[in-house]
Amino acid sequence: MNMPGGAPQTLRPFLWRAEHLYPETEIVSRTAGGIERYDYAAYADRVAQLANALDEAGVEEGDRVGTVCWNDHWHFETYFAVPNRGSQLHTINPLLPDHHLQYIVENAEDRVLFVDATLLEAVEAAYDPEAFESVEQFVVTGDRVPHTDLEPVVDYESFVEGHPATYDWPDLDEDQPAGMCYTSGTTGKPKGVEYTHQMLWSHTMATLTPQGVPAADDDVVMPVVPMFHVNAWGFPFSMTAAGSKHVYPGPSPDPADLAGLIEQEGVTLTAGVPTVWLGLMEHCKEHEVDLSSLERVVVGGSAAPEAMIRWFDEHDVELLHAWGMTEMSPIGSVAHLKSDLQDADEGTKLDKRTKQGLMVPGLEFRVIDENGEEVEWNSAERRSADSRAAEPRDDGEDFGELWVRGPWVTQEYYRRPEANEADFEDGWLKTGDIVTVDEDGYLKIVDRAKDVIKSGGEWISSVELENAIMAHDGVAEATVIGVPHDRWQERPVAFVVPTDEADRPTVEDEVLAMVREEFPDWWVPDDVMYVDEIPKTATGKFDKKVLREEYDDESLVEGKVPEEAAPEDD
Ligand code: AMP
Repeated sequence: MNMPGGAPQTLRPFLWRAEHLYPETEIVSRTAGGIERYDYAAYADRVAQLANALDEAGVEEGDRVGTVCWNDHWHFETYFAVPNRGSQLHTINPLLPDHHLQYIVENAEDRVLFVDATLLEAVEAAYDPEAFESVEQFVVTGDRVPHTDLEPVVDYESFVEGHPATYDWPDLDEDQPAGMCYTSGTTGKPKGVEYTHQMLWSHTMATLTPQGVPAADDDVVMPVVPMFHVNAWGFPFSMTAAGSKHVYPGPSPDPADLAGLIEQEGVTLTAGVPTVWLGLMEHCKEHEVDLSSLERVVVGGSAAPEAMIRWFDEHDVELLHAWGMTEMSPIGSVAHLKSDLQDADEGTKLDKRTKQGLMVPGLEFRVIDENGEEVEWNSAERRSADSRAAEPRDDGEDFGELWVRGPWVTQEYYRRPEANEADFEDGWLKTGDIVTVDEDGYLKIVDRAKDVIKSGGEWISSVELENAIMAHDGVAEATVIGVPHDRWQERPVAFVVPTDEADRPTVEDEVLAMVREEFPDWWVPDDVMYVDEIPKTATGKFDKKVLREEYDDESLVEGKVPEEAAPEDD
């Protein structure tokens, strides 16, 4: 709904501002062919060319354009060209199992698919004529097309070549869908989240506040979090709105690539999941790396370990611990220190910064306990200075599920009424994260109600793994839990109740072989543990909480300690 106020909240003014106020600010991109660089003036020209090319390809207002791409300038060009002309940018995670990729492309009905040359194989493997029926054109980023069976196919540079470098951007309604991203759900089937222009506009403005993860025009920003992951946490939009220099780390960057870009480009602000920074920390142990330009690093997607916060402190880099969700465009909270905590002792400060933090301006939250009652963490009584002093709150005392609402929080999943019923209520999104809130309003995630495992920033569906494992004859019952892991934060471990006749080593080998066949390597459980029975809750569901506790105390289960996990990528 467009309200009076001159103009709707769309992405167009962000591009306009960068083009006109910062025409010479650079965009740097690491590609398979080396470093490419140009400025916002050239960027705006290429965005217009791409928009014209999409016109010629017959992509109409409201149509979806998919991308299976890394963080580079080509991908960034689609970020403004596709939504500003009224079509919808659908970013796709290439690390998903084939059947998820098929489901996503089919469900979204993408008309054009942009594919990175290094990801062609992943798309070819997932290609299914029925699922990909809507796709009329594949565009391979770069200036040549490697051999591929996908068709019709053209390279990106030929696709845009010859098109005018100006475009008459339409006046769009702010409710027009601009973006789309799928998240993995408990049932395993990914759920689509649509982002309207208004959602991305308001998210951009909120993240640019000091309480968010602000970029400024003197910042050199390197989003390491993939652009297929909720718009790289919105950075490409906020960096453009602010006029920052962009640095894109390209295909599968390793710690040496990241360290090199920080040094060479003078990166001041960067963002990514903990696994990425653990890699950089390891790299810095062995190599001389100059991190002196770096001022802030945003860490989220999984909990930032305390040791990581301290490591960056020692290097004079402020680690901003952020929490968010695909459904929230994605930023929800950031662990900034409140002004009255600036003089607190170091232990208290570290404790606050290790939490998921304070809701950013524009959002509201509530915490709902098992009985559907609101947890009273901030009642007037509790917040009065006297009662605060008399009865300081203990973290962990009251916990419940975090519910959120706000202008950039989605109200529904795309074409998934049953999921909508479960996950939304009266305008609130039920996050599935179990939290406590301390007396200063800092959120802390203490558990996860949703049945998914997050490994290196990517979801693994425990339900899908369980179904695959239970299909084996020698398995009477099976469940999969996420166990803590130093590098990947969580890794899957399967608990199996074998049938009486089963030969255990054979079952383990066969089960793992079956899983490997159906899912990417990084989904394969690190370990298969045999148990006599799987603990159940009062309602008969597998009690994964008990299993997680038992796994910590290995004496209770037969099995082995997990070896180093090796997902293909984070
Ligand atoms: P996604 O939709 O893939 O962005 O994942 C969102 C989920 O990741 C949240 O609901 C949390 O379970 C988890 N998550 C995100 N950020 C954090 C964080 N800083 N600490 C712990 N868990 C997080």
